[in-house]
Amino acid sequence: MASKTDKKKRRDFSDSESENETLDKFASVNIKTEVKKRKDFSDSEEEQPAVLVQSKVASVKPSKQRRDFSDSEDEDEKTKKGTSRMMSGANRPPVRTGHWSMGLLDSMNNPDLQIYKDDRIVVIKDKYPKAKYHYLVLPRISIPSLKSLKSEHLELLKDIHKKGREITEKHKSSGLDFRLGYHCVPSMSHLHMHVISQDFNSPCLKTKKHWNSFTTQYFVGSKDIIEQLETTGRVNPPAAGRHAELLKTPLRCHVCRQAQTNMPKLKQHILQHIKSK
Ligand code: AMP
Ligand code: ZN
Repeated sequence: MASKTDKKKRRDFSDSESENETLDKFASVNIKTEVKKRKDFSDSEEEQPAVLVQSKVASVKPSKQRRDFSDSEDEDEKTKKGTSRMMSGANRPPVRTGHWSMGLLDSMNNPDLQIYKDDRIVVIKDKYPKAKYHYLVLPRISIPSLKSLKSEHLELLKDIHKKGREITEKHKSSGLDFRLGYHCVPSMSHLHMHVISQDFNSPCLKTKKHWNSFTTQYFVGSKDIIEQLETTGRVNPPAAGRHAELLKTPLRCHVCRQAQTNMPKLKQHILQHIKSK
């Protein structure tokens, strides 16, 4: 059981969610189905209903990779308190466990963030945008991460890409460039494609990890992901240790490649490129 301190800690750093928020119809149907399925198939610990899994959250160690550039700066420390086994289950319907890394499931149903939905995908505004325009395009079905992708998801990935392109078209008059892509090792569970303008002019963009996660090969273009899946039937994970190295890359402007000594200087520097647009 989570201690009082653990609960408080989780509340403190997860500005991403309200513990009491009522799930909308879509999410609750998924949970009911999930719970029923689990009862039907297994009595094993791994397969217990969501509510039981949730009670174990505090005792499970998070994977290191998810901590590499997670959004709230202090998540590194705080996540030591746990994550959910639910994240490892490929293609299970989304089940919200209350852990911050599952926050996108709440946000998908949050009318303040949601800007588009159909029967296959949902588009939300990124809650901590790292640029003037920053959206996430997510599938409705549960695909925990890039690692879970299979050839059968190709059409869905193409839909996600197409929606991303439509969004960038809508912002054409801004004169800003956009990129569509995925972090090779995401911090949040549930597959999500970033649609992000390249001004990177946002108070939420604070750290070297944030910067490098969007401006190095840590950010993998959506087209590359689709191509990998088409040619190999899977998405290749980064070589061991590579993703951590990328996040430590010395700071450099993404436009003129000029080296920068720290984030405030870099942020000041990139303003020139926006003004000169
Ligand atoms: P990634 O590193 O690819 O997992 O990126 C996760 C993205 O989700 C980041 O850009 C965060 O700013 C954003 N984010 C984190 N929590 C939430 C949330 N609860 N709702 C919407 N966006 C979020
Ligand atoms: Zn520059």
